[in-house]
Amino acid sequence: MSSLLTDGDLALGPGGARSPWLREALALETDSLPARALDGFGEADVAIVGGGYSGLWTALQLSERAPDLRVVVLEQDICGGGPSGRNGGFVNGWWDELGTLVDLYGDEGALSAAREVAASVRAIGAWCDANGVEAHYRRAGMLTVSTTPLHDGAWRRSVDTARRLGVGNEYVELSASEVAERCRSPRFRGGALMRDAATLQPALLARGLRRVALQRGVTVHEQTRVNRVRHTARGFRLLTENGELRARQVVLALNAWGADWPGLRRSILAWSSYMVRTEPIPDRVAELGWTGGESIVDARLSVHYFQVTADGRIAFGAGGGRPGYGGRIGRSFTHDVRDARRAAFGFRHLFPQLADVRLTDAWGGPIDVSPHHLPRFGSLQPGLHYAAGYSGNGVAPSHLAGRVLAALVLGSNEPLTRLPMVGPPSRRFPPEPLRYVGARIMREAMIRREDLEEQGRRAPWWLRQLTRIPRRLGYHLGLD
Ligand SMILES: Cc1cc2nc3c(=O)[nH]c(=O)nc-3n(C[C@H](O)[C@H](O)[C@H](O)COP(=O)(O)OP(=O)(O)OC[C@H]3O[C@@H](n4cnc5c(N)ncnc54)[C@H](O)[C@@H]3O)c2cc1C
Repeated sequence: MSSLLTDGDLALGPGGARSPWLREALALETDSLPARALDGFGEADVAIVGGGYSGLWTALQLSERAPDLRVVVLEQDICGGGPSGRNGGFVNGWWDELGTLVDLYGDEGALSAAREVAASVRAIGAWCDANGVEAHYRRAGMLTVSTTPLHDGAWRRSVDTARRLGVGNEYVELSASEVAERCRSPRFRGGALMRDAATLQPALLARGLRRVALQRGVTVHEQTRVNRVRHTARGFRLLTENGELRARQVVLALNAWGADWPGLRRSILAWSSYMVRTEPIPDRVAELGWTGGESIVDARLSVHYFQVTADGRIAFGAGGGRPGYGGRIGRSFTHDVRDARRAAFGFRHLFPQLADVRLTDAWGGPIDVSPHHLPRFGSLQPGLHYAAGYSGNGVAPSHLAGRVLAALVLGSNEPLTRLPMVGPPSRRFPPEPLRYVGARIMREAMIRREDLEEQGRRAPWWLRQLTRIPRRLGYHLGLD
């Protein structure tokens, strides 16, 4: 791997607790409204644990639909300190997941799910416009590309399913020359284009959500970790380091931290993902012909994903991180130099013509992998609601989660609450240490197979069989 890495890349370590997106967003906040830690006792109608997109969209939906409701968000860090302020900024529809959606939910269920996520892609941009949140939202579509003959046509099942269901325009196959017209890399082959997709600067959205929520009267307590939620005769008690909040209903919007939470821990697996970012290179990006603003992913399961930022950098992520033991989110999710280098290597491999370009930032974060690679929203018991399992694709779906969770809190029977991904958490992962050991073995096998395939080499028979095990066990994870 190291032959493609520059000395600068090898010295590149993740930049610490805050992503560069979040540092930039915080630097722009000159008159930020305070969100003091909870100290003592408090009361709320609805307590939301987690101040990322899921929690804040839910709070905003509730404040719009039921302005008299007392809504309190409790965030252990600052809003956007988690993945909502450190992701790749892809705002995707689910048309590229149509094959899996049909397997899980049937034709009608798949279509309704994909339509609602597509509506959220557009609604996020409209919300930013309406609320003066300049998050660099740009709706320019998403390109899936093959980088090895072994991945050619990886999109075809979803493309064919879209055509069969009468929504063929949503996910369209492109030839190699059509891909090259949008972005030139000597590694790119054919691909597919999804038009319902946008990019943004993720932390500007997270901090914008926080600002608007505070302005609408939502109470936000940052630096307030919820240690336990206790059910009582009159609702719930949320116990924090320095206080307690009583609430009639609770929303758990914990993302990967749910992997260590009662009721959720067997439904998700915390996994790391790392990103790197180049110096600003608008002219070099234009030389690639990449002027249309599309986000791009390759067809690996340990996916490479990349977008061009508003100031002409390439932000480049790699999905092949590592699982965490027991759902604990430690430094391996933010400070693992090996995984930051893996992202750098992916960038150098896919864009050899940018070999002289400097990478200036690296950072990582946790994602919440679910057994089906898709999220679920619902209630663990009456009054205790959750969203979990985004599996690294949560920017648009978390907006949908906010709409669904608000409807559940309000006891509404609207069609959103009957979407197929609404219900109890799905099929369970095994308990520790099996969960961790199994995930580690699968991770190593998958990376090894995909690295060989990227070089155009077929993986040995035993390795292919090993990476097929999760699918044979009924998970929508692992490789075919
Ligand atoms: C490197 C990386 C790149 C990604 N790229 C993309 C992408 O391009 N497109 C995409 O769609 N998705 C992407 N994702 C996934 C996406 O960021 C998430 O799915 C999305 O942000 C989920 O939002 P959330 O609000 O559910 O989670 P979060 O933003 O993680 O919010 C959960 C919050 O809960 C807080 N919390 C946890 N436990 C407690 C507790 N006990 N008490 C109080 N607070 C608590 C955490 O501090 C955190 O702030 C990426 C993720 C990573 C890590």
